Amino acid sequence: MAKWREPVRRPYYAKYERVPLAHGQGWYECYRLPGNVLAVCEPGHLQEANVFLLPGTDRALLIDTGTGMANIRAVIDELWQGDLVVVNTHFHFDHTGGAHAFDEVLVSTNPLVERQARAGIPHRFLENQVDEDMFLWGYPPGFDPQTFAVAPYRVRPVEDGAAIDLGGRTVDVVHTPGHTEDSLMLYDRSSGVLFGGDMLYYGAIYVQFDNDFMGRSSIEGYVRSLEVVKERFPQVKAVYASHNDFAMDPACIDDILAAMRDVRDGRAECEPMNDESWAYYGDKLPLSLYRFEGFTVIAK
Ligand SMILES: [Zn+2]
Repeated sequence: MAKWREPVRRPYYAKYERVPLAHGQGWYECYRLPGNVLAVCEPGHLQEANVFLLPGTDRALLIDTGTGMANIRAVIDELWQGDLVVVNTHFHFDHTGGAHAFDEVLVSTNPLVERQARAGIPHRFLENQVDEDMFLWGYPPGFDPQTFAVAPYRVRPVEDGAAIDLGGRTVDVVHTPGHTEDSLMLYDRSSGVLFGGDMLYYGAIYVQFDNDFMGRSSIEGYVRSLEVVKERFPQVKAVYASHNDFAMDPACIDDILAAMRDVRDGRAECEPMNDESWAYYGDKLPLSLYRFEGFTVIAK
């Protein structure tokens, strides 16, 4: 399908200070971001998933665990020696693939999340993610595209409004259904950074899911969630995204909220989308594509 493949590095990485990794396995890269945040990314896969490590004086917080296509634990162990709290922003494989490598993961729980944590994700649901064309520089070492699956992992529920104390640094949890029912965001009070999960980034924003494997999206829920975020965290200084470029101006919250309202209220122009490569398991074609400045919205 080769919808993105170019043998060049994404130019945005050059904006950030690279942290050398002894255990990057030729797959992970690490960058230091403003606000005492380390980003670990997987620039070689189409998902371009980002995970974030927030060190405190008592413990560190790891936000998401990546695709699990290589050993994320080795990287985190290199970057942080001490107590670690791990949280998943939602249950899609590109955020939970590495979860099994950690003792337990905080999640916004629902029956679909619990089932996935218990059973993992079988290979057959991930076949479209291991196509060679999804990989910019080939497969990571030791990776088998014939058998890749997400292993089961242990979860503990985290409530909306919970505050995670890292020592000298407190991170708020806000439940933000929209992309999926279990989506959550995190707000670091000390830096004013909002971690938007898959709800806030520039790229294709997915709001079309409606099955037990990918969960259920809701445009109405999306709008409400962004309204709650704006109300609860009026001082956001930057938004860090789980895909593509790490950092965004907080204006993206208003931009994406306005777009979702337009989609909800039928004001946005929509194109039918019949390209199967954009459809995830269970999506019925055609999907609807809405184009906005800097991002698109994909809905049912
Ligand atoms: Zn994702």
